[in-house]
Amino acid sequence: MVTESFRPPVRTLMGPGPSDVHPRMLEAMARPTIGHLDPCFVGMMDELKGLLQYAFRTENRLTIPVSAPGSAGMESAFVNLVEPGDTVIVCRNGVFGSRMKENVERCGGTAVMVEFDWGRAVRPEQVEEALAAHPEATALAFVMAETSTGAWSPARELCELARRYDCLTIVDAVTALGGIPLEVDAWGIDAIYAGTQKCLSAPPGLSPVSFSDRAVARVQSRRHPVQSWFLDLNLVMGYWGGSGGAGSKRAYHHTAPVNGLYGLHEALVMLREEGLENAWARHWRMHAALRAGLEAMGLEFVVPEDERLPQLNAVRAPEGVDEAAVRAELLDRFNLEIGAGLGDFAGKVWRIGLMGHSARAENVMLCLGALEAVLAARDAPIANGAATAAAGAALAG
Ligand SMILES: *Cc1c(COP(=O)(O)O)cnc(C)c1O
Repeated sequence: MVTESFRPPVRTLMGPGPSDVHPRMLEAMARPTIGHLDPCFVGMMDELKGLLQYAFRTENRLTIPVSAPGSAGMESAFVNLVEPGDTVIVCRNGVFGSRMKENVERCGGTAVMVEFDWGRAVRPEQVEEALAAHPEATALAFVMAETSTGAWSPARELCELARRYDCLTIVDAVTALGGIPLEVDAWGIDAIYAGTQKCLSAPPGLSPVSFSDRAVARVQSRRHPVQSWFLDLNLVMGYWGGSGGAGSKRAYHHTAPVNGLYGLHEALVMLREEGLENAWARHWRMHAALRAGLEAMGLEFVVPEDERLPQLNAVRAPEGVDEAAVRAELLDRFNLEIGAGLGDFAGKVWRIGLMGHSARAENVMLCLGALEAVLAARDAPIANGAATAAAGAALAG
């Protein structure tokens, strides 16, 4: 039987999430646990809603963190908005579009798939064809930031299209929120879900979501009850005061993850201090520096330049290099985690995350220096000695 505490190593997290967690958040999470219906805690919940509205750029009253990871945020969007017999247009350009399809089908709906190559953005023209061919569709679902490939899809254009065809929009912003421009109200997004462990840099396990009044009306006028009790927004709203506004009475629904919410609160306070636009700009600057270094080494990006996310950089491993062994060595020798390829990209691609607190100059330099050292020692076909200089110049410029 184990009698010692678990003490994880200190790593630098530059994979597809979780990202580095700032010590301020860890400190916040170590504060005293109080009751989830304690007036002090309820006050914190109200603040949290306001902070999330800031991050999502929305006035939606139903803007809350679901008490479970991003995948539960995804389920909450689908189980509430899709009823048996509904048709949903689902865009697939990576792993997460497949999960959307699963969700629609498990809700008894039909998913009309619009397919794109891995590593490419969703193209509105193709989506419009599907919308025109399926006037019975009630929703359009797509992933704004496809973490499996690093492709950035044009959310504003896709939401405009959906409106024109009278469809609600369901947007996966798990990797987008806090990293790239995102405007829930201005773009008319109806249902959006995110994660805490990507560009918000809080620990995993919570999923910020926001639903428009149009989406809430749809949930309230369902023909069938939501088949998930835990995620039924009609019940969750009573707990988070989603329909009653600040100070309305909270009914017990489940026990909120009290200390996890302290961490998210701190993450969002830090985002406010920095300013959302400044956070977007920082992700872009760090991406430019990392990119300069990777290209100086001779590594190639998977996604075409104008469709690339700054916070998820997928590059091809050089010919003849055992990509898994390189990752293992980075972890072992430099305490650095980068991500593997998924699906079609397994064994061929590295995914280097620059999310939240991980998107900073020292991480860029560590990653380039460590990757170069490991590759050079394996006689990989890369240009040696140029990466950190190129990144340094990009950071200075
Ligand atoms: C990480 C991720 C998810 C799932 O989030 P979990 O917190 O791992 O459940 C969903 N969609 C995208 C695009 C993601 O990157």
